[in-house]
Parts: sequence; C-alpha cells; structure tokens
Amino acid sequence: MIESRNPYNGELIEKFKEFTNPEIEKALEKADNRFKTWRKSGFQDRAELMNKAAKELEKNKDEYARDISLEMGKPIKQAIAEIEKCAWVCEYYAENAEKHLSNRAIKTDASKSYVSYEPIGVVLAVMPWNYPFWQVFRFAAPALMAGNIGILKHASNVMRSANNIQKVFQRAGFPDSCFQNLVVSSSKIENIVRDKRVKAVTLTGSKPAGAAVASTAGDEIKKSVLELGGSNALVVFKDANLSETVKTCVQARFQNTGQSCIAGKRLLLHESIADEFLEEFLVQVRELKSGDPMDENTFIGTLAREDLAEELETQIKDSVKAGAKIVLGGKRDRAYMEPTVLTDVTSEMSMFKEETFGPAIGVTKFKKDQEAIDLVNLSDFGLGVSIFTENMDFAEKIVPEFEDGAVFINELVKSDPRLPFGGTKISGYGRELSEDGIREFVNKKTVYFK
Ligand code: NDP
Repeated sequence: MIESRNPYNGELIEKFKEFTNPEIEKALEKADNRFKTWRKSGFQDRAELMNKAAKELEKNKDEYARDISLEMGKPIKQAIAEIEKCAWVCEYYAENAEKHLSNRAIKTDASKSYVSYEPIGVVLAVMPWNYPFWQVFRFAAPALMAGNIGILKHASNVMRSANNIQKVFQRAGFPDSCFQNLVVSSSKIENIVRDKRVKAVTLTGSKPAGAAVASTAGDEIKKSVLELGGSNALVVFKDANLSETVKTCVQARFQNTGQSCIAGKRLLLHESIADEFLEEFLVQVRELKSGDPMDENTFIGTLAREDLAEELETQIKDSVKAGAKIVLGGKRDRAYMEPTVLTDVTSEMSMFKEETFGPAIGVTKFKKDQEAIDLVNLSDFGLGVSIFTENMDFAEKIVPEFEDGAVFINELVKSDPRLPFGGTKISGYGRELSEDGIREFVNKKTVYFK
C-alpha cells in the first residue's frame, strides 16, 4: 500500500493499493493502443479538450487545492494559485501547440524540404510532490497537445493528487487512457522505462532519482529530460533598489515554504548594502505567518514530510558548526521548520553547496562584482540566478557570465508557459514549457521532395 499522510498533523489521509504487474501491463497496453488513434486527432480537437481541462481546473480548484494542502502541507491560497497556473498552461498550449509544431520549411536544392514535428508515443513522467499539479501539467499539456500519451509515476506522498489529475483529464472528456496515473513505487520504474511501448521519460526531482531513471533510459537509447533542482543565487549589487529587492527576495526564498527548485537559496549581498538590506529582510521574514496550511492567512506551512525537515535541520546545524550564524529561526517541530536566516555562510558550507529545500536561506557577502559572479558559478547546480541592479547596461553585460539556464533581472526566477524552463550542470538537461518544451518529445522528421 502507498500512504498519503498529512504532514501538518500526521494523520493518515488515504491508502492506495499499488498496481500489480498485470495491472501495469494493462495500463501500458491501453496507453499504446490509445496512441494509435490519438496521434491522428487534429490540433483543433485536442485544443478543445485542453481548454475543457482548463475549465475543469478553474471550476473545481478548491477541491483539488484542498487535497494538495492536506497531502503536502502547502498553504491553501498557494495551492489554489497552483491550480490556476495549471489552467493557464492548458490554455497556452491549446492556443499555441499547432503554431509551435507547424512544419519548418528549409530551402535546399530539393523542390521542397521541411521538418515536421510528429508525436512519438507513450511518455513517462516521474514527478515530485512540491507542486503536485503544476509539475505534472507542465509536462502533460504540451505532451498531449503534441499527440503523445502521458503516463504518470507521481511521488508516493501525493497519490490522491495524482489520481485527481487523471480525473481532470477524464472530466474534460479526453479519450480513455490519454493520461493515466500509475499507482506504483519507484522500484517499479526501471521495468516501465525499459518497456518497448514507453518511448521517453521526463523526471523532476533529486539528482539520485534523475541519475537512476536517465541511466536506464540511456541504456535503452531513449530520450530523457531532467529537471533536478537548483541552488539559485539572489545577487544584490550595491546600486539595487533595496525596498523592492527585499520584497522580491523574501518571496523568492519563502513561497511554497521554500520547497521549490527555482527558489533563491543563496543570498549574495554587496558588503556596502548588506547591513541595511538584512535589517529590512529580517523584518519581513518575521512577518511571514506560519500555521495550519488550511488557514487562508498562513504563508509558511509544514514541509511535505518530516524527513525533509530533518534533512534541512541537519544542513543548518552543519553550517553553524562550520561557522555560520543563525540570526533568525533555526528550530524544527516535526515537519515544521521556522523561517531561518543564516549569515557568514561560505562556499564550503552545506547551506551554500547543497540544495536546501525549505524555508532557510544563507547569506554571503561580496566585495567585487566579479566575486559575486564567481560565487554564483561555484555551485554544482545551474538552474537560474536573480540579479538586482538599477544599471541595465551592466546587467546585460554580465548575463553571459552566468552558467545557469536562466537569468532574471530584478525579479525572482519563475516559470511561465511562454518561456523555456530548465537547467545546466546537475540541475539537469532539456527544457520544459514554451516552444522548446513541446519540441522535446517529438520526432523532428526531415522531409525532402526531389
Ligand atoms: P525524489 O527525487 O526521491 O522524488 C521525486 C520523484 O522521483 C518521486 O516520484 C519519486 O518516487 C521518484 N523516484 C525516486 N527515486 C527513484 C528511482 N530510483 N527510480 C525512479 N523513480 C524514483 O525526491 P524526494 O522526495 O526524496 O526529495 C529529496 C530532495 O530532492 C529534496 O529535498 C530536493 O532537494 C529534491 N527535490 C527537487 C525537486 C524539484 O523540483 N527539482 C522536487 C522534489 C525534490 P517516490 O516518491 O515513490 O520515491
């Protein structure tokens, strides 16, 4: 049995019977058969269904959001916002998939030559619990619009949300088996990836999970896309607009109770503004209301599981042992971790080197602009970076210096259906969202007429 437990009070929400091997076999067979007809459906028909999925999300957002909050402790208002964003990505691809996948003419010595973008079949999505709907929809909307079939292996602690997502597509009227949730633990994934009917895999989660799944896919010569988290820096240069920047940095680190791959996890402050910045930053972090995720006024919920909070606590303690100072928070109560700020963090400490997945941030001061750029690039992760400055010429000049998949100027790194999303280094490879995302799982077919 796979269990869903409320991290706020430890209560059991529901138990799910894991699929047996014959049940997995049946699901894969159904998915493969569905592809034969779904690939021939037109963009108009798919768009109509995708718009209906958006409407279903809007209509029942309270129901879906409630289960998210129950299962992984996300404050209810943020869970509702997550559902709304899923409706947006459905609408975006309903409107743009045909354009993104229209033939690309290329002039050659042929009478006509072009590239067409055709669906490849069943794609497996291995997904995490931090945005139980959004992570799945940003895969499913483009995949289905491209004519592919989606099968989902969701994180074990959010199985009710996983079933709810299947329900959204059913309620929208998608043909049976266009999108199926497989109730399976990770031990079943290797065989599923190796199955001939599964053509590719996308995974969002930790490095070990990504390495395991991508190695199997590589062994079978199947494409994979990996989105493996990050340790984004928030770099505040000396000419930044401090009051705006403080607000943005608080959001960047603490929304979703800090459990976001693109959260700003390392705060790099120019030494000349560091004290003034920190003073206001601490005021605003203190104001974040912790509490029951079901309460509309709560901004900081619990972490999704107690072991995740324990891991964060260890990273904080290790950093303190190595010389960092806690200036706010630092205490844990089961799955709850106080919003925590550490100063004097250096590049050897856990708070800097590792991904910290929760409401804790490490502050490092720098003297020279180049030193800040070097500190950003020192990370093994390469998902994104936010830089704060009033000098746009300077910002534009240093953008190429960063090794990350995204640079946001005077803004937190955020995902947007219109923009590609993905990382470099151990943050993974491939892109989600936008035109780049929908073109990951298609056959880019070269066509040549003599
Ligand atoms: P995992 O990476 O273990 O889980 C993510 C998904 O991968 C889940 O569906 C999980 O299933 C599955 N999975 C795990 N191991 C394997 C495997 N060997 N083969 C196939 N599937 C696998 O994340 P955790 O929940 O353990 O979180 C640990 C850390 O990962 C976090 O603290 C954070 O640093 C990072 N993370 C990053 C996320 C991001 O957005 N990039 C999201 C979540 C976590 P199951 O739940 O059944 O194990």
